[in-house]
Amino acid sequence: MDFLPVFMQLNGRDCLVVGGGEVASRKAALLIDAGATVHVRAPELSNSLQDCLDEGRIQHRNGPFEEADVNGMTLVIAATDNAKVNAAVHAAATAGHIPVNVVDAPDLCTFIMPSIVDRSPVIAAVSTGGSSPVLARMIRSRLETMLPSAYGRLAKMTADFRDKVKDRFDKPADRRLFWEHILQGSVAEMVFAGRDEEAVKVIEKTLASPDAVQRDMGEVYLIGGGPGDPDLLTFRALRLMQQADVVVHDRLVSKEVLDLSRRDAERIYVGKERSNHAVPQEDINQLLVRLAKEGKRVCRLKGGDPFIFGRGGEEIDTLAEEGIPFQVVPGITAAAGASSYTGIPLTHRDYSQSVVFATGHLKDGSINLNWQALAQPNQTVVFYMGLVGLSTICEKLIEHGMPADTPIALVQKATTPEQRLFTGDLASMPDVVERENIKAPTLIIVGNVVKLHDRLNWYDESAYWAVAKD
Ligand code: SAH
Repeated sequence: MDFLPVFMQLNGRDCLVVGGGEVASRKAALLIDAGATVHVRAPELSNSLQDCLDEGRIQHRNGPFEEADVNGMTLVIAATDNAKVNAAVHAAATAGHIPVNVVDAPDLCTFIMPSIVDRSPVIAAVSTGGSSPVLARMIRSRLETMLPSAYGRLAKMTADFRDKVKDRFDKPADRRLFWEHILQGSVAEMVFAGRDEEAVKVIEKTLASPDAVQRDMGEVYLIGGGPGDPDLLTFRALRLMQQADVVVHDRLVSKEVLDLSRRDAERIYVGKERSNHAVPQEDINQLLVRLAKEGKRVCRLKGGDPFIFGRGGEEIDTLAEEGIPFQVVPGITAAAGASSYTGIPLTHRDYSQSVVFATGHLKDGSINLNWQALAQPNQTVVFYMGLVGLSTICEKLIEHGMPADTPIALVQKATTPEQRLFTGDLASMPDVVERENIKAPTLIIVGNVVKLHDRLNWYDESAYWAVAKD
């Protein structure tokens, strides 16, 4: 180990930053965050340092560095682009046995600054001993995705209970067990989901009778798995997917997304083919209830966003009725995915001031929609589940006043390597669909924004095809 990691208490202590540029400004900001009294020595200040000065967050020593500047300092950082000045700062600080860091000059450092993930009071620090700052930053960004932003609140909450837990359990091993139970179980999840009060109550209850609450009631995470590309999952979705005991998934969830759930989790498929309901909705609702009552953490994984044509509302309604804890994690809905990955913005100041999401699902051969409202100018209409009813949709829109040459796009398997885009107008599109071998799921976008595809498209699914063929 070349360096010993330590965390320094700088609250209220004097620290010196030599240099007035952007790098100096970043270092000063960190010291300010740590509560230090920051003195900046520089003949000139960058805009951000000037702002700090105006806000009274730093003290400015105008003019060039002087040896005496280091007197009384707890820590010194040199961030100038002048090697001579940096060396002088180093010499003065080391003469006074004051820790010193010279930016980009490892030989002149008696301490180095790690890349950090700040979830105060939780701090994760990564250092490569100065050998590869880029690698340190990459590791840091991986940690960023693993540490929920609410870790800090969770840590503060446990601090509030430390004394009580000490009073309650004499043996350190018992205390450790208690905290493991709290931090790995539903309490932590409650804090991450912003339900702090509830979490405090559970901690209190567990403290009062630790044996009685050995087995938690399970919980259901209703998670939006996005349109297909696994990169589009949220951090929260990924984290919950990786801790769930059971995954209940739909046909629309891509294999790549599903593969990100915990390896040893049980998987239950409840997919619905069109007009062939594999598992009736009511049975799915009851399945979730049963699994949660068995104490399992259940990931109910749905395509896109659970609250957009996802029947997510019905599923959690049953859970709410049964008093089962649940949380909902939003996902990228197919409209957003298809729009981005085809370069068709859903709104645009020149073409469309509003966007409507509608279902084109046929019930008894008719689509029950307010066509008048959908056929408005300067509006984008997105149809989910519209492939089978496409010709009716085009017909009805024209009938209600939309010009027959209004552009329309049909996006197959958006955001996946099998994405394909078909464009045309309301009059011609039904023929296109008849001619082509189109695979579900597809999304339909109607409106002048479709024209933007030619200029704004950036996604080239053929690149993936080339890789797949190799
Ligand atoms: N909750 C989902 C929608 C479920 S309804 C969401 O928010 O996206 C099912 C319909 O979604 C499909 O018929 C299709 O119209 C659309 N859809 C879902 N994923 C899609 C994808 N990758 N590409 C195109 N359309 C998709």
